[in-house]
Amino acid sequence: MRAEIICIGSELLLGDIADTNTQYLAQRLSALGIDLYYSTSVGDNLERLLDCLRRAIDRSDLVLTTGGLGPTDDDVTRDAIAHLLGETPVVDDILADELQRFFRLRGMEMSTNNLKQATLIPSARPIRNTYGTAPGWWVTDGGHSIVAMPGPPGELRHMWETEVEPHLFDGDSIIQSRTLKLFDISESRVDELLKPLTSSANPTVAVYAKQDGIYVRITTKAASLKAALRAIAPVERQTRRILGAYIWGADDDTQESTVAAELLKRGLTIAVGETITGGSLTAMLSSAAESHIWFRGSLVLPADAARRTSAPALARQVATQFQPDLAIGICGTILPESDPPMGEVTIAILGPGSGTLTTATHRIRRHRLRTIGSYYALHELRGALVHAKNRNSATGYERSIREAT
Ligand code: ATP
Ligand code: MG
Repeated sequence: MRAEIICIGSELLLGDIADTNTQYLAQRLSALGIDLYYSTSVGDNLERLLDCLRRAIDRSDLVLTTGGLGPTDDDVTRDAIAHLLGETPVVDDILADELQRFFRLRGMEMSTNNLKQATLIPSARPIRNTYGTAPGWWVTDGGHSIVAMPGPPGELRHMWETEVEPHLFDGDSIIQSRTLKLFDISESRVDELLKPLTSSANPTVAVYAKQDGIYVRITTKAASLKAALRAIAPVERQTRRILGAYIWGADDDTQESTVAAELLKRGLTIAVGETITGGSLTAMLSSAAESHIWFRGSLVLPADAARRTSAPALARQVATQFQPDLAIGICGTILPESDPPMGEVTIAILGPGSGTLTTATHRIRRHRLRTIGSYYALHELRGALVHAKNRNSATGYERSIREAT
């Protein structure tokens, strides 16, 4: 299925507002494995919108529009779709009643131009809008669909999630995908290693670079969920066989959620000391699940504190201060005269029991030091946790510190 997005609103073209609707819809489509080939912004102008719609319906199976469903004269989306199909909008009694009720409930008078929002054409069925006055239109024309949704992001998202996405494949096959998440490997390397898989048509295997690593998304179209899962399983196994060492999670996992789960499972606590990452690791960890149980505390020092301390020293400092099972220190420096500008982070982890001290240094582009540095810290932490013993068998952080020094 090929999709296309048209966002309608002159304020988008004047630079008054950022087009977050496109970003949102693009992410949703991508997660569903629907190809998005075009996205357009167009002002509140009937002729130009009609032009965009004509082109879109010609080359795409699913056209999503947002905006221009309001009651005023510059809201032209319905008119444009009606023109496109050569149909005339008429007021629908049920929609008009619902609209009346919406206003009555809020103690407001409904003005007559609102009736425009209660119109339909024969090819359109209304889409319920729980948060606003304008119902959407789901228009089918031959094998093509236009789904017209409101502009306000809250209304759009709610409508998409409750009324549109669940029905996209009604009566048809289902689309199911599984995303494996990797870190510390480049997109091109993943692509190269998965070459035999990425050329397959069903399931499709796609590789994406994201902030927190590389994603491998396996998507299949099948008659039922069971059949879809059956098609995905062997491809996932094969991907894990090739890239297992880099895979840290799947689907909705975040790097911090996987670390949190591991700490909880092992009954271990943690404390953090950071300089160059400026509290970014602390922010990630403290917002992860049940952090009150396993997160003991953190010390955030100015970036230049690395001149006076080191990652292992920082780890020891927070180990003494917060008495955790695991202590992690991150320090970093900007590499002078590098082009592109680069920095280096050093991560030190004091483990429980074994007394081992993990240290690792990574080079990172300067403008991404905070985030990627923090992700590297989580990455090292996961590695250390694999070897860490459970709390019961640990002989305590004090021995770790003694042996490390
Ligand atoms: P209304 O009934 O509120 O007029 P509408 O469906 O006609 O709704 P628009 O008038 O086009 O929608 O947009 C209403 C508001 O929604 C805009 O002022 C803007 O704040 C927000 N909005 C519209 N389009 C977008 C977009 N693409 N991205 C983010 N926000 C948007
Ligand atoms: Mg409007």
